[in-house]
Amino acid sequence: MPHTQIDDHVDIELPGLDVSLVAERIRNITQNRLDLIANEVNACIVVAVLWRLYPEWLVLLWLGLFSIVILVRFILRRRYQLVVPEPETIRLWGWAFTVGAFMTGCLWSFTGSVVLVTAEPLYNLFALFLLGGMLAGCIIRNSAYMPVVYAFVIPASLPVIVILLTRHNLIQIMMGLLFGVFAAVLLSTGYSINRSIIENFRLRISQGILLERVRQSESVMAKAQEIAHVGSWDIDLVTKTYNCSVEAYRIFGVDPAKPKPTYLEMLARIHPDDREMVSKNLYAMITKGMGRGTDHRLVMDDGTIRYVHEQARIERGPDGRAMHAVGTISLHAIGTVQDITERKIAEDKLKFANILLRTEAEASPDGIFVVDPNRKIISFNNRFCEIWKISHETVKAGIDSDVLEAVKTLVKDPETFHALVEDIYSRPFAISHDEFELLDGRFIERHTVPLSDPGGENLGRIWFFRDITESKQAAAYALQMTRFDGLTGLANRSVLVEALQHEMSRAKRGKKGFAVMYIDLDHFKDVNDTLGHPVGDAFLQEVADRLRANTRGADTIARLGGDEFAVVVTDIAEPADAAALADKLIKALSSLYSIQGNDIYSSASIGIDLYGPEVEDAETLLSHADVALYRAKAEGRASYRFFTDAMDAEVMRRISLGRELHEAIDSGQLFLLYQPQVNTGSARMVGVESLVRWRHPTRGILRPDAFIPVAERTGLIIKLGHVVLLMACRQGMAWLNAGLEPIRIAVNVSVMQFKSPIALEAEIIAVLEETGLPPHLLELELTETVLMNVAREHRDILVRLRKLGVLIAIDDFGTGYSSLDYLRRFPVDRIKIAQNFVRHIETATGDASIVKATIGLAKELDIMVIAEGVETAEQLKLLKKWGCEEVQGYYFAKPLVVEEITHMLHTGGTLQPRAGKVS
Ligand code: C2E
Ligand code: CA
Ligand code: CA
Repeated sequence: MPHTQIDDHVDIELPGLDVSLVAERIRNITQNRLDLIANEVNACIVVAVLWRLYPEWLVLLWLGLFSIVILVRFILRRRYQLVVPEPETIRLWGWAFTVGAFMTGCLWSFTGSVVLVTAEPLYNLFALFLLGGMLAGCIIRNSAYMPVVYAFVIPASLPVIVILLTRHNLIQIMMGLLFGVFAAVLLSTGYSINRSIIENFRLRISQGILLERVRQSESVMAKAQEIAHVGSWDIDLVTKTYNCSVEAYRIFGVDPAKPKPTYLEMLARIHPDDREMVSKNLYAMITKGMGRGTDHRLVMDDGTIRYVHEQARIERGPDGRAMHAVGTISLHAIGTVQDITERKIAEDKLKFANILLRTEAEASPDGIFVVDPNRKIISFNNRFCEIWKISHETVKAGIDSDVLEAVKTLVKDPETFHALVEDIYSRPFAISHDEFELLDGRFIERHTVPLSDPGGENLGRIWFFRDITESKQAAAYALQMTRFDGLTGLANRSVLVEALQHEMSRAKRGKKGFAVMYIDLDHFKDVNDTLGHPVGDAFLQEVADRLRANTRGADTIARLGGDEFAVVVTDIAEPADAAALADKLIKALSSLYSIQGNDIYSSASIGIDLYGPEVEDAETLLSHADVALYRAKAEGRASYRFFTDAMDAEVMRRISLGRELHEAIDSGQLFLLYQPQVNTGSARMVGVESLVRWRHPTRGILRPDAFIPVAERTGLIIKLGHVVLLMACRQGMAWLNAGLEPIRIAVNVSVMQFKSPIALEAEIIAVLEETGLPPHLLELELTETVLMNVAREHRDILVRLRKLGVLIAIDDFGTGYSSLDYLRRFPVDRIKIAQNFVRHIETATGDASIVKATIGLAKELDIMVIAEGVETAEQLKLLKKWGCEEVQGYYFAKPLVVEEITHMLHTGGTLQPRAGKVS
């Protein structure tokens, strides 16, 4: 407990002390009543003595006055004692009592007048004796307040002393002197008494004030301790005597009404498990001087546990040394004890909540990530690090942007991801949810909610990330199960119908047509019956694989049950395309199967229906294909049939044409026409393009459109190309041999011929050698489709051919995808502007500018240009104006037979435009 020491040197300011002192002094004098009574009694004695010396009325008047004054003084004293006077009236009261004393003193001086009236020693002695008694009484009674003493003594004694000294009677003079000395001694005694009374009062009062203060501060302290649940104690560690504040007792659970427990009993209140820790701490406190505060438990009388926080220290003097009580060996420690049970319970609850939260977070399948409003990382769980493959250290560093960078390297679309995150952060209260894919194929579900306190203040944000790859896969698998055949993984009927509907709507919008094929395996039942279902299943899987391998990605393959399959074949222009694919599939499905050690031979029949606008729905298409399949099976297995006879016929015609073409090439039914290429300046024929024709025995002369596609599809084009090249070169050489002006001969080369470019190169060289035609008179016309198929390594072939002198022209320039790119990549001598562009140069400004720009570009690149399909004089005029040096077209000549060209060469090679527009 704190000591309040009043040091001699310390002046403690005590406001109000002076006033209290005066009040107390006055109180002291008012406590007398005896002196007033003595006054009154003495007055009566005086009256009796002086009765004979003075007139009766005078004596009675004096007594009357005297009695009134005494009565007033009496009442004033009573009053002062009864009502507690206000501090500011104290001086007034002092005056009142002083005046009272003064009046009494004055009245008493009347007694001295005896000396005037008679020199009778007895009377004089009586008067002096009486006055002396009164003076002594007054001083003894009233010296607490000297003004009263002076006010009484001076008027009462001075007149008689003066009178006595002025008498010519020695005795009287002596009496006067003696009385004067007596009065002076009395006064000085009174003064001394007064000093000591004042000192006494001062001490008493200041003590009272200080005590009051101490009491007050103690009560404040006690109340403060009660409010704060903090008690204080002090202990003499040597004698083990201690003091506790009320609150400390309450906290220690000590009943103040019972006898104070001993020090050891107090120690026993500490929970047994905590005693060692507390005593260790106490020891540290004594030896090292400073102990840590301890949190420990107390066991109450009823067995309940109270948590306290105790803090203590050894009391130290100004020199820093431990304080020892003077004269005894003692060591003092003071300390505080705080009841922290409520806080501890709250803390425990919080701790529990924290552990619960932490456990929940760690047990959660979600990666959890928490940031404060400044995006500083507050918390995260292990799962978060696992999902994002980020080290603990990176996240622990607490920098959100680092984590975001690390995360961005994993997501498939980092830009979008970043933008999204920033957007969410820009809206503190946004709740958002989505899914996204990672580069490693995982799918992550993201959920984020703001953290805000009940007052709505933003405290940050919590992010949840969940790896949903498995559930995604499961969902995809479930979808697969409902939409795809479990055994083969092929689509089921409903998917097939959807695909058909999709293709129908595409076809209606003018896209290419499509076909549906119904495929049935021949003799599948036998496989199942003889080799068992597992082999049957594996066999069906193999069939599915072969179907996949032989169709394009855009095609839809379905298993319709058992051994029935269907294919939706997209981008089918004509029946022949479908027929070719059907052929291919039958071949693929008919080759040997080797399943689990069994060799299986099988074949397939296919029914085909080609989409036509008359077909209303997908089911109709399927049933048509089914009908066709039935026919295919009926007419011998391992074959295909179309639903309509017309389609069948068309396909049959194509097939027979293919067969016929074979013979036609061998039997020389093919021949060449030559279309002149004319110089626009001179109108002279500078070259010819060879264009193949077929003199069909029954169908007359066929144009290339009728048989080149068949030749390409059947592979006959190689042979056909060779024949054409040979005929063209031979003819060119024949003209040379005839001594005619040499002209260029252009030969068209098909895509298929370029499929084996090395063979083509050898063939060209061989033909040139065989015929003897100078290479610079041969020009190869390659379409952009051909060039597209020329792989990088085969680019050299073009270079080599050109080195040989052979000319390379790009046919139908501008109709391909990136014509300009070909110019950059391939060495060419000439571009042939496609007829499509030339046709409308007079009317369509777009086409005109393309042609104009092409001519300009060609000149720029030092490439020659020829415009194809020139039919009118106007077209010629424009082309000439734009700088096109050669043209080819009906305006000058249609493709002509050899004889006509020979004739033209003979007549000088200059061409006259044919009259009018040619259709
Ligand atoms: P192409 O190479 O573009 O040949 C030009 C076609 O346009 C020729 O049709 C020709 O008769 C026609 N033509 C020329 N000038 C005009 C004109 O002013 N107006 C109109 N309307 N047409 C004109 P053709 O002879 O029927 O040849 C068609 C296509 O057949 C050729 O187009 C070429 O790609 C191909 N072809 C022709 N002969 C052969 C050949 O020997 N081998 C190969 N692989 N393809 C050839
Ligand atoms: Ca051509
Ligand atoms: Ca052409």
